Amino acid sequence: MALKTAEEYVERLRKMKPNVYAHGKKMGRDDPMLELPINTLKFTFDAVNDPELMDLVVTESHLTGEKINRFTSINLSIDDLYTQQEMKRKCCHRVGGCTQRCMATDTLNAMGVVSKEIDDDKGTHYHDNFLEFLKYYQANDLVGSTSQSDPKGDRKARPFQQQDPDLYLRVVEKNSKGIVVRGAKNHITMGPYVDEHLVLPTRNMTKEEGDWAVSFAIPADTDGIRIISRIVTPRGRIDLKAPYNNYGVSDSVVVFDNVFVPWERVFMCGEWEFAGRLALTFAGFHRHSYCGCKPAVTDIILGATALVADYNGVGKSPHIVDELTELMIIAELVYASGIAAAAKATKTSSGIYTPKFVYSNTGRYMAGTNIYHEYDILTSIAGGLPSTLPPEEDWLNPETGPDLEKYISRKPGVPAEKLHRLYRFISDYSCSAMCGWAQYAGVHGGGSPVMEKIGIRSEYDLESKKDIVKYLAGIKDEE
Ligand SMILES: Cc1cc2nc3c(=O)[nH]c(=O)nc-3n(C[C@H](O)[C@H](O)[C@H](O)COP(=O)(O)OP(=O)(O)OC[C@H]3O[C@@H](n4cnc5c(N)ncnc54)[C@H](O)[C@@H]3O)c2cc1C
Repeated sequence: MALKTAEEYVERLRKMKPNVYAHGKKMGRDDPMLELPINTLKFTFDAVNDPELMDLVVTESHLTGEKINRFTSINLSIDDLYTQQEMKRKCCHRVGGCTQRCMATDTLNAMGVVSKEIDDDKGTHYHDNFLEFLKYYQANDLVGSTSQSDPKGDRKARPFQQQDPDLYLRVVEKNSKGIVVRGAKNHITMGPYVDEHLVLPTRNMTKEEGDWAVSFAIPADTDGIRIISRIVTPRGRIDLKAPYNNYGVSDSVVVFDNVFVPWERVFMCGEWEFAGRLALTFAGFHRHSYCGCKPAVTDIILGATALVADYNGVGKSPHIVDELTELMIIAELVYASGIAAAAKATKTSSGIYTPKFVYSNTGRYMAGTNIYHEYDILTSIAGGLPSTLPPEEDWLNPETGPDLEKYISRKPGVPAEKLHRLYRFISDYSCSAMCGWAQYAGVHGGGSPVMEKIGIRSEYDLESKKDIVKYLAGIKDEE
């Protein structure tokens, strides 16, 4: 049975060799500090039995015909891309933001596309390696990281020009059994609770940079890997329990200290001409994912803004209706870009469909450049209370509770508990460590806005636009 339970996933983590470090200590993957981040991943396993989500989350493996979790699947049609996008929006509503697991889906799809293209060009066997790995990944319902972002050192220098060549992960040895890699990947979401690290280049490479053009999959507790993590969770709750407060996240510096990777786990090694293609193919898939998940974040900001305005008695004020409409436009334009990217997808030689790059990028760009604007709307309409409301303990204290009950009062008929719940949610969502994380993720995850602009320009036919104007203006170029 390829669909595993959340408990089976947690049990796998428990058995792994400890190589996770966080907040000053080495920890097992069963450390209570990791409970909330792991809950987010557990949700993706539970979703296969959720009547509202199962049709989106359960699909079939094209390799074995078995039922699998869509987070482990390959996009073999335009319909698959549509479903991915819808699944992400709906799943993100449940955990209050990023479900995290889609990154590996996007990485697998990119590895599938480019390993085949390398084989077609060079006669290598990377795609066979990939398909064998994918079978194993799907059969065990695994969770993978996307280990793409290198530390990058001096941003103006190329990998081979860095003072320390390890600032981009590279191959330091090759033998008949496999390769040895050294370096690190930064910002790696889910680092402490993945089964496998899925590694790919972060940029194009030149012919001097074959050692840096490397892609592979490796169990996360392999000797030589150290996962140095930052854990972010919402504030705890005592009585006013809420679903949002059950989920957290962790990002890591993943160090590869002379790590051996067997050949059968390698999907690129030295083919520098394909490094940029792999980096950008992943970016195309992942920016398409953002066209599903980011509208979900906007939905939550929109819902919170509308609800707090209602509770305050100002839900129908024209300036508020106007701001709510602005949020609707952002959410649906980003989502529409994702639909367009799927509709205009290209079938690659591997059979995998890649979303139209320009539309993945326009959607991701809209999302990234609007995130602070969206929080600005919520902040201005919520008023200052999310940042100043006394903690839950004071609401529960019989000496101060009645004061906090009386003086939180807003529109008649809205009970104090609802107000305490909503303001605490908005505080957690817009005025907390989790919020800071989500805002930075909203800007940089999947590539900073400047990268989307570069992506859009890279395949945009600007000359044809000039030609339109030349035609309209009656301008004729000399032969
Ligand atoms: C919450 C979060 C989660 C993430 N999760 C993952 C993950 O799971 N896996 C993963 O691989 N990555 C992940 N990332 C990394 C993300 O893709 C990067 O943050 C993003 O690509 C930007 O890279 P950077 O952070 O190194 O910033 P930088 O590369 O330092 O870029 C910052 C800015 O510097 C400027 N700049 C950079 N390079 C140049 C240049 N050559 N010339 C001119 N200007 C330049 C640009 O203005 C750019 O916007 C995550 C990031 C965040 C914030």
